[in-house]
Amino acid sequence: MVATPIGNLMDITFRAVGVLRQVDLIACEDTRVTGKLLKHFGIKTDMVIYNDHNGAKVRPQVLAAINAGKSIALVSDAGTPLISDPGYKLVAACADKGMKVIPVPGASALLAGLVTAALPTDRVMFAGFLPPKQKARKRSLSYLAQVNATIVFYETGPRLGLTLNDMAEHLGPRPAVVARELTKLYEEVRRGTLEELVSLYEEGSQIKGEIVIVVGPPLKTESMTTAEIDTALKDALNTLSVRDAALAVAETSGQPRRQLYARALTLKTADADDR
Ligand code: SAM
Repeated sequence: MVATPIGNLMDITFRAVGVLRQVDLIACEDTRVTGKLLKHFGIKTDMVIYNDHNGAKVRPQVLAAINAGKSIALVSDAGTPLISDPGYKLVAACADKGMKVIPVPGASALLAGLVTAALPTDRVMFAGFLPPKQKARKRSLSYLAQVNATIVFYETGPRLGLTLNDMAEHLGPRPAVVARELTKLYEEVRRGTLEELVSLYEEGSQIKGEIVIVVGPPLKTESMTTAEIDTALKDALNTLSVRDAALAVAETSGQPRRQLYARALTLKTADADDR
């Protein structure tokens, strides 16, 4: 699994160049795109197309070649294969057959976007591309609104305005970043609240290039009432221990865990006394 640059060709690793030279075959999404990369580094290895359209047909051939002792490198058009790109089913099939899968790490828009965002990196969720249809996108966003983590999305220029709009509506007031054309000539990183970014990238305006959107975790608020916290704790206690229920509600409410632990204990004892 060999990562390739997401723009700047200098981001390829020495190891990736060596591996792409040494393997028997390179499986790639598009031979024209990968061909350019190989030409730049003077790599002459043969290529085979492996993508979402032909995967079911090519996978057995790739597995047979590995079985016959050949080594195969999987690359995507850019960045790390499997990350919103083909490869998962191939890796799963290899793992299933006990074949060795070796990562050759390198560039990925996910990490490049995250490290430029200036948002918390201790807990991160990668959400990839949101559904293109608005109804499904809004559904995904209402689910993601519950996640207490920085969230990284991939997006395309034409959809950026609409997506930011839906994010502002469903994720609430949060800091966010639009990172465009990372590692390329017109690299641009714009920070603001989701609302501010909506007005920067008006719906329908012609935004070009490749985009990562990074959204900060929900802002901690004191907005949950005592009654709401009790309800959340009671719900959690139906399936979790006192400790885990307190932890879970601390995540969503932003209230101190210790305080919630004491309250969960009281609720649990009262519940047991009632029975
Ligand atoms: N596997 C790739 C990776 O590891 O980053 C991602 C492939 S996905 C099909 C392509 C998306 O990644 C683009 O639509 C964009 O959201 C993001 N992307 C790729 N290159 C980028 C770049 N140079 N700057 C910003 N986003 C980029």
